[in-house]
Amino acid sequence: MSLQVFLWDGEHSVSRAAPWTGYLGKQQLIGDTNISDHIIYLAYVDNDDEGYVTYSLSDGAPRTRFVLTYYGEFQIQSWSSRSSVWVVVWKFPTVECNRYSYCGPYGYCDETVTIPTMPTCKCVDGFEPSSTEEWTSGRFSAGCRRKETPQGCSDGFVALPDMKLPDRFLFLGGGRSKYEECAAECNRNCSCVAYAFANLSSSRFGGHVTRCFVWSGELIDTGKVGELSGATLYLRRAGMDATKGKRTKGNTVRIVLPVVGSGVLILICISLAWLKFKGKNKKGTKRKKIRLEDISISDEFEKENLPHHQEFPFVRLEEIVLTTHNFSETCLIGRGGFGKVYKGMLGGQEVAIKRLSRDSQQGTKEFRNEVVLIAKLQHRNLVRLLGCCSEGDEKLMIYEYLPNKSLDATIFGESRKLLLDWATQFRIIKGIAKGLRYLHEDSRLTIIHRGLKAANVLLDADFKPKIADFGMARIFGDNLENANTQHVVGTYGYMAPEYAMEGVFSTKSDVYSFGMLLLEVVTGIRRNSISETMGFPSLTVYSWNMWKEDRTNELPDSSILDTSPDEILLCIHVALLCVQENPDDRPLMSSVVFVLENENTPLTSPNLPAYFARRSAAMNQIRTDIQASVNSFTLTEIEGR
Ligand code: ATP
Repeated sequence: MSLQVFLWDGEHSVSRAAPWTGYLGKQQLIGDTNISDHIIYLAYVDNDDEGYVTYSLSDGAPRTRFVLTYYGEFQIQSWSSRSSVWVVVWKFPTVECNRYSYCGPYGYCDETVTIPTMPTCKCVDGFEPSSTEEWTSGRFSAGCRRKETPQGCSDGFVALPDMKLPDRFLFLGGGRSKYEECAAECNRNCSCVAYAFANLSSSRFGGHVTRCFVWSGELIDTGKVGELSGATLYLRRAGMDATKGKRTKGNTVRIVLPVVGSGVLILICISLAWLKFKGKNKKGTKRKKIRLEDISISDEFEKENLPHHQEFPFVRLEEIVLTTHNFSETCLIGRGGFGKVYKGMLGGQEVAIKRLSRDSQQGTKEFRNEVVLIAKLQHRNLVRLLGCCSEGDEKLMIYEYLPNKSLDATIFGESRKLLLDWATQFRIIKGIAKGLRYLHEDSRLTIIHRGLKAANVLLDADFKPKIADFGMARIFGDNLENANTQHVVGTYGYMAPEYAMEGVFSTKSDVYSFGMLLLEVVTGIRRNSISETMGFPSLTVYSWNMWKEDRTNELPDSSILDTSPDEILLCIHVALLCVQENPDDRPLMSSVVFVLENENTPLTSPNLPAYFARRSAAMNQIRTDIQASVNSFTLTEIEGR
């Protein structure tokens, strides 16, 4: 018997696992962290009348069930008593491209790539996409065509290891008990395009102990599934010398492997891969290490900065092109000074992909080093960098996707009142302060953001704030060794004057930006909406004047006016301390966090705030009496983003 598992939707096959074998499987499923580790034992029963699989659970394992969902997924679910829900610990099809015949004739789904790379379609050896255009736009059903004209029987075979064997095979039974016999069978039949051989003598397989599969039509529904669960497929390839198409030494192992990996066990093995993807498999470090070793990083970082436990994925451009439909406008979710941002799916996870504009002036190696460094900065209030891609001119960074847009879009919209009560806003403020404190003081690197603003604070599904773009200053060339730059980047109004006017920056320039952001949140006034700041040249000047005149309680936005006045006044006070003209007067972010969390901390009175402007002709910073200067400034973008 050569049974295969199919999922059907009426007469249409949804997905298929490779042919079953007679092996008994024992597999540890490590599910949700809420569920204790448990083992599922699988046994395959095959006799003249029937063939089926049984499963049993290890002692103490939670209740487990198999579910076929209405949308065509076969799932193993475990009961989580902590959260009282069924948790999916494994599912099939696992990825889009292992749906039946998804990659078309002679195409295969490569499932061996590591997260966050998306498993994707490829052509088998000696073949190319039938339509490059369709292929690059993510439509694979037309499959692949031969690159060279076949010569029939004079063509030899190429070994494709670790494959899920294609469908529509012919099972040759008795007489082909050796690999050589199976190979000869295919070789002598000129229409035979491929063959595979397995020896099942050590299994519990009830029928024939050897298997010889041959294919004479198109190869469909093939996959690359890895060493553990794959088989070697011998494919007749144009241009290969028939006399050289012999089995290599390593094949003994590979012939046996399909046996281990086929049938339901394949499903389970794939599940393990999936669980590894999810980062829940504690044993799954080998592959990660291999990938880390693959990274071309400088010795310095390898030795000093790259801990072995850390996996940092370098994603192939091909995967990104696929998931963004070749950077199509429909996937575009934003654009900023560093490039465009696209939404995509990688490894089953929603991600934001930032395609850097080409002027980063960094080589590939430097970019990679830099990104690995930045990826090590992990804090709940920083957007997580998940991976990067650097191929040719293309440099891309992959971040966790945050669904609730930027703070900018939330605090200035009508939705503000509906979405964010003061308690949430105060939590957001404290979160931003903590993220910035981490960048400045807690991480091993001191990172100066240089672009903090409401648009760079993104909100997750629970409206927790995450600072974005924090590595950009480094990636784009200026770093701490160069604390005085000709290249001023940032957004007008958020930039500290010493940075905007003289290019001098420090952590205190970020503190200034934080103060500005805080004033925006509390007042609901955009820092550049001059007409709305009651005729004052800037939000800082307006706020400071209100403070001086003891009218601070008139500053807050009407939507928060009646709530927690102490917290709101504290925020205004802190904000004014942050935007003081002299950088030395501004507090450190650690002090800001402390004060925000300990409301009764005594505070000094804020000094004159910084503000800057240029005379339209002279471009000089003017330091003069605020009240007298109200009408004498024109505001000019320095380098807006
Ligand atoms: P600049 O780069 O000039 O500071 P910016 O911060 O708005 O401007 P980007 O960081 O490139 O520019 O982001 C542009 C937009 O893309 C954001 O405003 C946001 O809407 C979206 N975006 C960026 N990163 C993510 C993410 N991780 N998740 C969801 N949306 C994102």
